[in-house]
Amino acid sequence: MKNIDETIKRRGLLLVLTAPSGCGKSTITRKIMGDDPSIVVSVSATTRDPRPGETDGEDYFFMKTEEFRQKVNAGEFLEWAEVFGRHYGTPKSAVEAALVSGKDVFFDIDWQGAEQLRKNAPDDLVWICILPPTIESLENRLRARGQDSDEVIARRMLEAESEASHWADADYVVVNDDLDKATRQVRAILDAERIKRVRRTGLAEFVKKM
Ligand code: ADP
Ligand code: 5GP
Repeated sequence: MKNIDETIKRRGLLLVLTAPSGCGKSTITRKIMGDDPSIVVSVSATTRDPRPGETDGEDYFFMKTEEFRQKVNAGEFLEWAEVFGRHYGTPKSAVEAALVSGKDVFFDIDWQGAEQLRKNAPDDLVWICILPPTIESLENRLRARGQDSDEVIARRMLEAESEASHWADADYVVVNDDLDKATRQVRAILDAERIKRVRRTGLAEFVKKM
């Protein structure tokens, strides 16, 4: 049977998780998305080249700088930023369509993008910052993940401090010392934000028929 909350119309929300690399953001996101059909992922546009295994339209919309600039000028991005010398941006129309249909949108964007969403879509944004329990644990996790060379790990550790320093701009801060606990906390935030009165556009109709 359908959960009664799902029968009440609502506007979706924008969920941004920011974290220094290695904090567990992808793992937590996968766990939360796994069994939830109300979540969609925002596919960004970028001017960087595709990496092996990446598909256009799924991982990113890959484009030339000229096309990206045209889209910026036409106001087609909800936010955009330059990261490592390349451009990245969130297409506006897909996000708005999702919100109107009651779907929540997950993002993989950096803190600059989150700050712009704060300006451009303040009522829709839910920003969670994930922190590691200690800096040493971050480095250990990056090593245990086994994806990066020593050089890349050293660079990620340098960037970690800058990414973590934006914790004060987030709505919530989750410390990931225990993966199950951190996942439960993110789930709890999502559940509570979904039933906020301002997002439940179908409440008047529900109460009328109650
Ligand atoms: P991110 O997406 O933030 O870069 P990942 O989700 O890839 O990070 O996590 C980095 C590594 O740390 C992975 O191998 C993951 O399994 C591990 N990990 C995540 N959370 C914890 C935790 N609470 N304790 C120990 N290891 C963790
Ligand atoms: P990568 O090139 O490794 O896929 O991503 C590099 C960085 O760009 C990551 O920190 C990622 O979160 C960020 N990023 C990806 N898409 C966007 C976007 O649309 N907007 C912003 N602001 N950052 C993005």
